[in-house]
Amino acid sequence: MDISTAYKDNNYKIHVAENILKSQLSEYTAQYDNVYYLIDEHVYGIYKNSKLSFIEAPLVVTGGESFKYASPLMHTMEELLAFGIKRNDLIVVIGGGATGDAGGFIASTILRGVDYIHVPTTLLAHDSAIGGKTAINSKHGKNLIGAFYRPKAVIYDLDFLKSLPSSEVLSGFGEVFKHAMIHSPELTEDLFQATKETIDLKTLTPFIIKGIETKMTIVIEDEHEKGSRKFLNLGHTLAHAIEYKYKIPHGQAVMLGIIASLYISNQVYQLEIALDYYVDYMKHHGYPVGLITDMDVDEMLELIKKDKKNHKSDYISYVLFKDENTLTVTDIKVSDLKMMLTKLKERI
Ligand code: NAD
Ligand code: ZN
Repeated sequence: MDISTAYKDNNYKIHVAENILKSQLSEYTAQYDNVYYLIDEHVYGIYKNSKLSFIEAPLVVTGGESFKYASPLMHTMEELLAFGIKRNDLIVVIGGGATGDAGGFIASTILRGVDYIHVPTTLLAHDSAIGGKTAINSKHGKNLIGAFYRPKAVIYDLDFLKSLPSSEVLSGFGEVFKHAMIHSPELTEDLFQATKETIDLKTLTPFIIKGIETKMTIVIEDEHEKGSRKFLNLGHTLAHAIEYKYKIPHGQAVMLGIIASLYISNQVYQLEIALDYYVDYMKHHGYPVGLITDMDVDEMLELIKKDKKNHKSDYISYVLFKDENTLTVTDIKVSDLKMMLTKLKERI
């Protein structure tokens, strides 16, 4: 399946299917004199004798989040410069969201920008590979250094997902679930039904594609996050604090954050979303819902206040449902949020 972006210019394709990497990539690489491959070390370790055996002399970069820092990044940039990279060369970045964010950032800055293609290898990267945000971390926080920079293509070969550990499947699924919720109650219910017993990657394909389309529609409407792109932060306010404190994978924290968003939506907009339905489902699949009971609300609020998305000191910007079909961004008083999170702890 090919999905095309619909920006005013600089459009590109997102190719999604099993076993497409080599054939799809060759259509692009043929247009360049030199191609440099940056590959997550874990991914390369698993696939160097199979799917990735056609790649000669890759730059194998440190795995996952540890690559998203200035020092490994500079090391790789210096390597690329030592190889003599030119403005009209291509960089192919193969790995999960972290490798994609950092690899995209390298492509956006080296020689003031060279073309790149992202080959996402995690379930979560169905999210991170869409929208053209690149980033690395600072000692002051995650994703604080970066740029908007679109790739020439995204080649999402779903074969890679087969080697993901179950904790990463649960993490990526958190964002698949979030996209379904942003899309519609109907899609959310279909997803509930399809994954009632197990989260099986085969049955997920149509939901991954819907997730990509949902995210793409929003980022095209609002590339620089002035309006509707904020809805993509559903569940993320509490998630970032939980992820930071308990060091759990991002998408797992998003699932817990979604529980909080639903509870707060019920309180603020007098809705009757069946919270237990969601909580039971998440517990069944092994999400660490108990962390909501364990959390120290004051500590979470301190972390939430530091988030770069909050601009006012006494209010927290929260993505909520104002009715079953409609998302909104609401400023909640810190004292009200404290009360609601405290009640949620007792409620779970
Ligand atoms: P990741 O890239 O750190 O990958 C998770 C782990 O899985 C790593 O250890 C990695 O080495 C390993 N891995 C990757 N592919 C594998 C495979 N096929 N088989 C086995 N192991 C594999 O993390 P992620 O969950 O893909 O992405 C999270 C990152 O994405 C975060 O840094 C987050 O900030 C970023 N992100 C960016 C955006 C954006 O819009 N740019 C959106 C969401 C998240
Ligand atoms: Zn997220």
